[in-house]
Amino acid sequence: MSTKTTNLLTDMKMPFCPGCGYHLSTRVLARAIEKAGIHPLDVVVVSDIGCCGLIDGLLRAHTVHGLHGRAAALAFGIAHGLADASKKVIAIQGDGGATIGLQHLLEAARRNVDMTLLVHNNMVYGMTGGQVSGLSPEPVKDRKMPDEKDIPPFDVVELARAAGAAYSGRIIERGDYTDVLVEAIQTPGFSLLEIVGPCPAHGIGKIKDIAGMALQDVTYRSDREPHVAPRRETHSLFSQLRSVKVDFQANLQGRFSLIVAGSAGEGVQSAADLLANAGVASGLHATKKGDYPVTVGTGFSIAEVILSSEEIHHTGIEQPDMAIIVSEDGLSMMKNRLTDTRILLDAALSWPDAPGSVASLPFRKTAGGKGAALCAIAHWLRQENLLPVEALQQAAAQHKLADRFLGIIEKAKTLAGS
Ligand code: SF4
Ligand SMILES: [Mg+2]
Repeated sequence: MSTKTTNLLTDMKMPFCPGCGYHLSTRVLARAIEKAGIHPLDVVVVSDIGCCGLIDGLLRAHTVHGLHGRAAALAFGIAHGLADASKKVIAIQGDGGATIGLQHLLEAARRNVDMTLLVHNNMVYGMTGGQVSGLSPEPVKDRKMPDEKDIPPFDVVELARAAGAAYSGRIIERGDYTDVLVEAIQTPGFSLLEIVGPCPAHGIGKIKDIAGMALQDVTYRSDREPHVAPRRETHSLFSQLRSVKVDFQANLQGRFSLIVAGSAGEGVQSAADLLANAGVASGLHATKKGDYPVTVGTGFSIAEVILSSEEIHHTGIEQPDMAIIVSEDGLSMMKNRLTDTRILLDAALSWPDAPGSVASLPFRKTAGGKGAALCAIAHWLRQENLLPVEALQQAAAQHKLADRFLGIIEKAKTLAGS
């Protein structure tokens, strides 16, 4: 083969070691795509970590470079998501990546997803120093890791076949195998081609040695129909955004930051959302961030809200202008965080050496554990009028729990100073 066989290949110098099998693999891949009649813009090449991952940068095509062992999974997702059946997805993995992501490969074969997976088996992890992989045959292990030589390698071709691939095959890289690859690419459904080649940098250098390693060319075909995922209508998250009309007037110049600290499952995040919405409805910029354990229904729940008359470019809060603390979980999280700030503390909590000024009020007693955060926010707004409490009421009225939230805001009126 000439070194430049197709328009799909860029003019970049190939980055592989002298004698590496990827020189040939790259040229064969480009030629096979061309020979299969696929326009460069109709192919998506998905690559893995490792020396084989350098191939995609040499191609003038859509390419996606994924995590180690995940090329099959990425390609699977892309193939399922493509609405146009004329597009072709080709994934490239090494023997290391195929070992790491074996389950992804089997799943794609089991579902007979319409894609092609090329497993470049040079029998070692080339990029990381020549360690053996799950596809390394016994003679390679004998040389490199004798302790492992009794552990048989995976036969990735047989595995793909057993899982249900429409095509699975192996080719030893003795010369031009473009036609073999064209058949794999043109097979409807999942096709896997194991390409066995050299990695001279780590002592896998001679094809005749490789050919003596009990690896042989094979081809299995089945007439299974490819699985076509049912198409589902999905919507962009942006399509669910609603615009907020500015109906109120805020009394804020500059930026005000608030932390609401309570317990998971007690409405802390919803209360902070309502405040942020009320801020926007009052002509302010607003951000809100939530922090809670992955268990969601237990432990602390912290919400950070920034309201500002200027655009907000940094959403972090070092020390808030005010903290509202409505439960023991919230208090324990704030004790090491606050250094000097105003604190609205639920009356059932005690913090004798609190930094800054503390006002204590019975938010939980007034509105229950699940209403305490919103009750405290409503009380604070009535006291300070940073923005009208009516803006908070309007935000609550638009929520699916409108009745409950409006009732809590009303109850806050009974607190001293409201
Ligand atoms: S380390 Fe091995 S696989 Fe990687 S470029 Fe060099 S010869 Fe090729
Ligand atoms: Mg390898």
